Amino acid sequence: MEYVPNILFAIALVVGIGFFVRNVKKLSRNIKLGKNVDVSDNKSQRWRNMARIALGQSKMVVRPVAGFMHIIVYVGFIIINIEVLEIILDGLLGTHRLFASLGSVYNFLIGSFEVLAFLVIVAVVVFWIRRNIIRLKRFIKPEMEGWPKKDGNMILYIELVLMTLFLTMNAADSQLQQLGAEHYVQAGSFPISQFIMPLLDGLSASTLIFIERTAWWLHILGILAFLNYLYYSKHLHILLAFPNTYYGKVKPKGALNNLESVTNEVKLMMDPNADPFAASPEGAEAAVPEKFGASDVMDLNWVQLLNAYTCTECGRCTSECPANLTGKKLSPRKIMMDTRDRLEEVGKNMDANKGEFVPDGKQLLDDYISREELWACTTCNACVQACPVSIDPLSIIIEMRRFLVMEQSAAPMELNNMMSNIENNGAPWPYNQMDRLNWVNE
Ligand code: SF4
Ligand code: SF4
Repeated sequence: MEYVPNILFAIALVVGIGFFVRNVKKLSRNIKLGKNVDVSDNKSQRWRNMARIALGQSKMVVRPVAGFMHIIVYVGFIIINIEVLEIILDGLLGTHRLFASLGSVYNFLIGSFEVLAFLVIVAVVVFWIRRNIIRLKRFIKPEMEGWPKKDGNMILYIELVLMTLFLTMNAADSQLQQLGAEHYVQAGSFPISQFIMPLLDGLSASTLIFIERTAWWLHILGILAFLNYLYYSKHLHILLAFPNTYYGKVKPKGALNNLESVTNEVKLMMDPNADPFAASPEGAEAAVPEKFGASDVMDLNWVQLLNAYTCTECGRCTSECPANLTGKKLSPRKIMMDTRDRLEEVGKNMDANKGEFVPDGKQLLDDYISREELWACTTCNACVQACPVSIDPLSIIIEMRRFLVMEQSAAPMELNNMMSNIENNGAPWPYNQMDRLNWVNE
């Protein structure tokens, strides 16, 4: 009987981590559905970007209030969870406060964790008020209705509960230490939970042990559950922000990638000495892509799919988007959310069909993202600039437009006119090239 809690703890740990590993495998499989893209360049620049943007949160502080509070929650949550290591070891070995032998270092750590836990609670409450009472505009856009809104609040509630459990556990522990209860070593400092202790005054040792153990179990089970909740939530960004900022675009923002096959075609057209039949027919055939641009998630590259899973749904992109600000249907945040939703749908389809995707008559274009949204984009890059985790919604818009133009000849009439003019007149206007300088004489 003595080892029952240890065995139960080991089972909970194995199940929690097992599900997490399963989710990571699914995530990786879905991201790999994207096309390959070479991101082996500029390694030192990429490491710097990751350190500055993901670890240093440099783009978060562009909006100082939200940025500062986000840093508290981020640092607090990560650092407090260092204690999880002690909890896991205690759970497996049947010990209590295993690291207490560190003495004053331990006391300092527990004290700092408590201060951070308190700051996290304050920040979480402020975040909740911004979302639900003040109702900041970027949190009440149409794409945030339903699950995204619930998810945003759920994360706040979970963090609140986890931090409260941590402080409650410490308050009960501290009381038990004062009572000299067996197993409860004198260790730790409790600058915040000391204010909870009066609520526990007069309780018997057995009641205090019940409270301390309940808070301890709920705290660790809550962390394991939260770990598995990440896959279904925008909170996945706490893990993916790091690879995403590493693989993010390092070229200047306005630089678009060229389709290699189109570049080759143009080179042939521009070179009078070129022999279009010089290349072997097999090689030429292999170089022809199956499809120009993207109509579904499998046509995007894997970095774009990683972007979709990393999106925090913060809406900073949408709040800077000139199309959205002027009442157009386009929201770059929705582009990323739609991409993730469709990717998830494809993943579930594969799960249900032994790992093979069975065509479901749907695609990202039209079923998720409308043409109206795509053509509303001014390609200004404001969304890319605003994103705190280096996501590039514009690249997806461009790929989908490429599909519309090159596969379906479905550009809006104004664009078709302009492209015909460029083709015929070398300029976007419907005038003969010979007349281009007529304005000089007017
Ligand atoms: S690039 Fe397009 S989607 Fe992004 S902010 Fe500009 S208009 Fe909006
Ligand atoms: S794309 Fe970036 S800025 Fe836009 S909602 Fe997602 S994380 Fe926020």
